[in-house]
Amino acid sequence: MSSLLKKLEDNRTAILLAEIGAYLHLLGRFSEEFIKSQAKDATNTNSNFDYKNVCNVSSFFENTGLEVLLKSANWKPLINITLSGLNELSTNKVNNFCEFIEKHTWSDNPQGLLKILADAHGIVSGIDKALAGRGHSGKQRKAYTFKATVFGYEKEIGLLKATDLDNVNKEYIKRVKEEFFKEIKRILDNILQNKSVSYENYTDFINTIKEYFSKTIGETRRSINEISLYDYAHTIASLTKSNLAKMILDGWYEPRGKSQWRILKINLSIIELLTKGLKIGDIFGYRQEIENVLDEIKKTLEFHYPLGNEIYRDSTGIYFSCPGIEDKDALKTEIISELKSLNQLDFSLQIEISDKSRSMVILASEREESLKEISYPHISFGNIKEELISSQNDGDKELCPVCRIRLKSLRIERCKKCEARYQERAQNWIQEPKSTIWLDEVSDHNDCVALIIGQFDLRKWLSGELLNTFVSQTFDEWKNTYATICSTLNIQTISDLEKGFEQLFNNSQNLNNDMKEICKSFIGVKPDNFISDFWEPIAERDATVRSVSLTNNSEKAKHLIRLLFRKHPSLARIYRIWETTQEFIQTTIFEGILDKYPFGTNTPFNELRRKRIEITIEPNPCIPIGATLDLDIEGVRLSPVCVDENKGIFITEANIQILSNKGKTLNEIALWMQGKNIKVKRENDNKWQEGYKISMAKPADDRFQDYIPYIKIYEYPDQFMALVPAYDAFDIAKKILEEYEIQFSKVRDRLPFHIGIIAFHKRTPLYVAMDAGKRLIETFKNKTKTINAKIDSIDDVSNNELGKYVRRLKLNPDPCYSSVPIIWHISYSTGDPNQQDEWHPYIRFNGNNPNRGNYSFDYTGNGDYVVHVKELKVNDCINIATSYFKITFLENAADRFRIGDGLRPLDDIERTDDIWNEIQKIVKSKKLGISQLYAYWQDVKKRYEDYGGNSVWENFVKSSLINILKLSPKEDKEVFNKLFHATKDGLLDICLHWNLQVRKVKPEKAQEVKNE
Ligand SMILES: [Zn+2]
Repeated sequence: MSSLLKKLEDNRTAILLAEIGAYLHLLGRFSEEFIKSQAKDATNTNSNFDYKNVCNVSSFFENTGLEVLLKSANWKPLINITLSGLNELSTNKVNNFCEFIEKHTWSDNPQGLLKILADAHGIVSGIDKALAGRGHSGKQRKAYTFKATVFGYEKEIGLLKATDLDNVNKEYIKRVKEEFFKEIKRILDNILQNKSVSYENYTDFINTIKEYFSKTIGETRRSINEISLYDYAHTIASLTKSNLAKMILDGWYEPRGKSQWRILKINLSIIELLTKGLKIGDIFGYRQEIENVLDEIKKTLEFHYPLGNEIYRDSTGIYFSCPGIEDKDALKTEIISELKSLNQLDFSLQIEISDKSRSMVILASEREESLKEISYPHISFGNIKEELISSQNDGDKELCPVCRIRLKSLRIERCKKCEARYQERAQNWIQEPKSTIWLDEVSDHNDCVALIIGQFDLRKWLSGELLNTFVSQTFDEWKNTYATICSTLNIQTISDLEKGFEQLFNNSQNLNNDMKEICKSFIGVKPDNFISDFWEPIAERDATVRSVSLTNNSEKAKHLIRLLFRKHPSLARIYRIWETTQEFIQTTIFEGILDKYPFGTNTPFNELRRKRIEITIEPNPCIPIGATLDLDIEGVRLSPVCVDENKGIFITEANIQILSNKGKTLNEIALWMQGKNIKVKRENDNKWQEGYKISMAKPADDRFQDYIPYIKIYEYPDQFMALVPAYDAFDIAKKILEEYEIQFSKVRDRLPFHIGIIAFHKRTPLYVAMDAGKRLIETFKNKTKTINAKIDSIDDVSNNELGKYVRRLKLNPDPCYSSVPIIWHISYSTGDPNQQDEWHPYIRFNGNNPNRGNYSFDYTGNGDYVVHVKELKVNDCINIATSYFKITFLENAADRFRIGDGLRPLDDIERTDDIWNEIQKIVKSKKLGISQLYAYWQDVKKRYEDYGGNSVWENFVKSSLINILKLSPKEDKEVFNKLFHATKDGLLDICLHWNLQVRKVKPEKAQEVKNE
């Protein structure tokens, strides 16, 4: 019996070398020369650079000699496969890696394996790169050259360390190229020497490519300057690999325009597992275990039986490119059996293979399908059964509260397996003591912690739907470039062009010289035949496969226009979408905001906030390293962690601001501890033990000081969870929102982003907070919808962060979303001050064709229009997606069941901040006490219960604003109205509760009031 996986294993070296070749085929683009050659104002020398020709230019390789190795004849026997049924591959052999670089497009007449590469290259780059790439549309000026996110936010290109191509850091580029080529050479030398690819070679190679290719972009033309060289190479390499695997299994076929792949999904309910822990260590233990399992899966499917590559990973599991094999069930059965041993009592892997497709847009629906699957996991027995029996034979009595599966003995906290996982995490912490895994350290000086959640809704982006609102090249720029021919043919608008194409579909004999010129403007050559030389080559690059299914000529013409002028859901672009939000979460939120956050600003004794004390206990309580010990020092309870088992040395793991009544400085607090008799309680002790003392207490060593008091629970491309001090949580959310408004300004109407803050006392069981978080995420997802908003006013403003071209829109949304108007700043700037963004900020229009010239179009083909932000007018009605904000304090465990109630619009973060600032000002300027603030708050709340929100109540609110808060409806008109609305829509209640009762802030004047 021939097994499918075995066949892949037998041909591993050849498959992995084909993948490596596919990564290397774009090596010439990793250079300053390539970027310069694409500039609008490139010199002749610049524009003559050919990235396919680099193997013949040894200076390109910075004297590393890599080009000699790429050309080596020794590769030939390793790269090529001789198997029956693979005729093309055995007759037309590839000689070396240079051929991958030189012959990877159909116009190069590729042979054998390179045909597979050429089709992958074509389908991945999609239509916009190939077509827009040949015209001059969107070229950047040398002095202002940027890379962009997929949502049009521009940044400098990492490899150049500059945006002016005439002032790049040449030394840096040379050094980076040298390091990169040397490392690639080292790995390839090693492979050649051993005549096979080891797992170490493979991972070294992949990691090196990822590190370096991510520094630059695949194309510089706007608006396709968003695809990094890595996105581009990785998707091509994955498709090449999977398609070669398909041929090894099913035999050769001509791939041109036909390569397809499947998506292999391996799902498990990650959030479910992460929300189980009693303590952070349990959560981290699970997280580590999941990572290990996913790594093991990757090793099996990417290397051992090389069938594809990871193309997506999130909280639902891991997704691989997979051969478009005919008998998918047979392959699935073998994979299930191969991965069986990774199943555990805690989770089982749900394995599924999708239908064939030429795109990745099916990822969105496949992911939704998986969500249903993992809600009802089917557990297959086998090794799991033995695990269950062994846990029960341990003579244990009670269900483990962490996994809730295995049994544990009465005296200990966790089952053996959970305990091992927990201990391991604590030991790892000692290696990275600037981080924390202790809730007591995260909690603020009031003993409160907050779970902060951020979540993007990418569903309509991953499915490609909203990419149709982006323009790949503008009709105007195209028309201006080809002005003569357009005027000869009287092409004024995009529908004139569409009509021209429709006539050609009806009768391709109409392809006269003028129309040939038009076609040439898109593909670079004059076609002889409209169908076979123009339409079909474009259709074969259409990742949606819609082109081939259309029969009606007017539909074809309409679709062709879309392919030529709109952004296409190419593989690389879909990949780039989730990579953009992932990068925002990693780089902006975690590294930019949280790692640098000034925790505890304005709290008492803030200099103690991030400090630790080292204590030595006698006699040594003999606790393992990484375990904690409960102490009672004159009634003060602490749980320091053991860092030296032999000497009985411990480090505090609490926010020691709470000890400021024992000492004002770290030294004073240590002094207070020094020599004290204490009681201790180990995990197995059922009562406090006397007879111990602190023989030594002092500030801990520097490596333990200045820890960062937040804990990342997880980050996935579309969402994250972290624990932060409750005191700082709102301000952190505000900073995240500000960054979202900058980086996603052009799509905030179409890309929902939700933020949740769930605060709780540090003694609240962690799983209650985690469960609340899980429920909130579910609610965000279910409540996201598209609503109407009327434009009340528009102003042109300039804003440093958003660039030179910015519009300020005052929107009146459906009152179900916000009861007050919202203000948005939408950028249509690029990094170049002379260039407006003509490609991204197209807002969905609610109504019939708005006729804004070339700045409005039907993006679905069903009469759904978008309008460029600069062409929006007052009183226009637009569609916006709802983004939500939730802030709450869990008073009790049952509160989590109501977590989804009372969601606020995301914009209320700024409003809450504004209201709080106003209140502080009023308290100060009107010389009020906190008691008056409480009186106002409680009175209007109490009356609301009696009257509901009727006019009697409204009048009561107004008179209370006048009488209690001393505001005049005339002189303080603006703030009076603000507070009135905030009282009415409940925001004031949230704001006061959060600041007065959770953060326990006292507004300015308050200290002087005795009876608060
Ligand atoms: Zn357990």
